[in-house]
Amino acid sequence: MVDLIGQYNHIKPQVNKAFESILDTAYYIGGPEVKGFQADLEKYLDIKHVIPCANGTDALQIAMMGLGLEQGDEVITVDFTFAATVEVIALLKLTPVLIDVEVDTYNMDIEALKKAITPKTKAIVPVHLFGQCANMEAILEVAKQHDLFVIEDNAQAIGADYTFSDGTKKKSGTMGVVGTTSFFPSKNLGCYGDGGAIFTNDDKLAHDIRGIVNHGMYERYYHDVVGVNSRLDSLQAAVLQIKLPLLDSFCDARRKAANYYNDAFAGNKHIITPITSDFTTHVFHQYTMQIINADRDALHKHLLDNNIPNAIYYPVQLHSQKAYTDDRYKEDDFKVTNELVKTVLSLPIHTELEDDQLEYITKTVLNFLK
Ligand SMILES: *Cc1c(COP(=O)(O)O)cnc(C)c1O
Repeated sequence: MVDLIGQYNHIKPQVNKAFESILDTAYYIGGPEVKGFQADLEKYLDIKHVIPCANGTDALQIAMMGLGLEQGDEVITVDFTFAATVEVIALLKLTPVLIDVEVDTYNMDIEALKKAITPKTKAIVPVHLFGQCANMEAILEVAKQHDLFVIEDNAQAIGADYTFSDGTKKKSGTMGVVGTTSFFPSKNLGCYGDGGAIFTNDDKLAHDIRGIVNHGMYERYYHDVVGVNSRLDSLQAAVLQIKLPLLDSFCDARRKAANYYNDAFAGNKHIITPITSDFTTHVFHQYTMQIINADRDALHKHLLDNNIPNAIYYPVQLHSQKAYTDDRYKEDDFKVTNELVKTVLSLPIHTELEDDQLEYITKTVLNFLK
């Protein structure tokens, strides 16, 4: 689905040089690359505080710990996302409340959000799924009315821009009280192992989170709160420092591939190509289409048989997963997600796709869906 070796080959001399200097000094943890990358990302996102951590799942958990959410607090998130989002809510003994998504953008449905709010609701976690922002203006408005925290799961959309109706622009992940991301190798900004980060403009929250990521320590060996051990190491920070200046060009390359797919599939009655909302740019972490009135699973297999990687993100609704079922859920409230798990299919999308590859992929898809 991605070509990480091809991408590495373009930046090999810089990466190898950076790695060599870290290996020569053995400054594996907390080296200058970590602070350097943190400052670079703060500048790129135009946000006051970036706190690096070990991965995107930790980032979500730590954000929720930092906000002081407590057992029994309800946290609303979407039924159609990677499980990490709901996992950390459950792990912290908060109460996950899963809601449906919009059929055209795959992002949080605002009417479902309004319906799900109760006196126990404390936070909303929109996921900017597949690379475009959820309807943040509406989500922030609902949050304001009900005094709720908004935690943006930005693992899939780093680099996307959001435009508010007054013309103000913000980077994805910087609109809620806190945003989180993942630097897993296949993400749009990926390192060569695990990594993640938390973003906020709130000084007090940033201070609290900096303690939490480091065993609850603000002063060495004095533990003020229960924390975790979650850090980005120097080697990963070095890769990210080299790749961050390239992020916008990476997103352009993904958009170019997505446009190729969109053009090739336009007019095919079995394919619904992904649409981008007016208020956001799309950075195409995934190119996810819907296959209708045709055998999606047979297409999936046909493409694999023809050496075309493709995947089903996501094959099971979270509210139907053994770990996350709850008697309160009614199937009727998940009409869209229940359908999407049967129709979605994601094609390869990355920074190294060549036209001949795109041509082979689209031809193979179209031959099957004639
Ligand atoms: C990848 C991902 C995460 C988790 O990131 P890790 O770094 O793998 O822990 C969380 N949420 C979403 C939506 C993701 O895609």
